[in-house]
Amino acid sequence: MKRLAPFVFALLGVPAAHAAGTVEEECRRIGEKLASVTEDECLERQLGISGGESVSGAPILFKEYAPIDGRRPQGRVLLVGGIHGDEYSSVTIVFKWLRTLDAHHSGLFHWRIVPLLNPDGLLRDESQRMNANGVDLNRNFPMPQWETAAHEYWVNQTNRDPRRYPGERPLSEPETRWLVEQIDAFGPDVIVTVHAPHGVVDYDGPHDGPYKLGLLYLNLLGTYPGSLGNYAGVQRRIPVVTVELPYAGLMPKPGEIADIWRDLVQWLGRNIPVRQPMAGQQGQETEPS
Ligand SMILES: [Zn+2]
Repeated sequence: MKRLAPFVFALLGVPAAHAAGTVEEECRRIGEKLASVTEDECLERQLGISGGESVSGAPILFKEYAPIDGRRPQGRVLLVGGIHGDEYSSVTIVFKWLRTLDAHHSGLFHWRIVPLLNPDGLLRDESQRMNANGVDLNRNFPMPQWETAAHEYWVNQTNRDPRRYPGERPLSEPETRWLVEQIDAFGPDVIVTVHAPHGVVDYDGPHDGPYKLGLLYLNLLGTYPGSLGNYAGVQRRIPVVTVELPYAGLMPKPGEIADIWRDLVQWLGRNIPVRQPMAGQQGQETEPS
């Protein structure tokens, strides 16, 4: 059946790229691409199809860890890896943390986790930062005067660096549109994103960020026009914690992966307040803030 699929899709006039839209197929491609995530490990995480798709039709996979047995979660956490497709470690580490949560999810937080927002950037012969349209997704989020701010920044500050192209307009890309829909629907109390290779913790939003996560220390890198930190942290006042791993192509040691996670969960526990009043039943969506 699998071998027939391209033929069937050709008959239907659907681009063959859409034939790749299953969890199994995406895990196969992830296993081929990432040195530290096998196809089986990806499948074991039992990721779901979110309905979001990349430019080429690859599914944006996700996993949700819902409240347990009526225990009121302290808050909702949206964790996103792989915004930049050439930051391999930012995807791999999320898979390792998914494994931790699979074993130890206690219901303390309600998690929605997206290990790879930019499948087209990662899952190509030569992985790239941008999506299939050549857009830096982390410059494509809305902000006031985006057209002048983000575009002029790209022209004047980056000298039209193609790796930092913000797109034609805010939310021109399906990946960024989908993430904003997630923020609206899920109503996270905090967003955690993973990047590389600055080797620090970055933070945007109200209050203060974590001083340290494992061996990574808080070092505010500044907020780029059109970035997720600018959009969610500065404008919507949702805390955005950015874990900047030290290497894009080299994973931290297992102990360090665990240390970052431990410190992150402890920081969340101290800083993410109980929602009042309780939003209601499990999985109920909140209104956009
Ligand atoms: Zn990045």
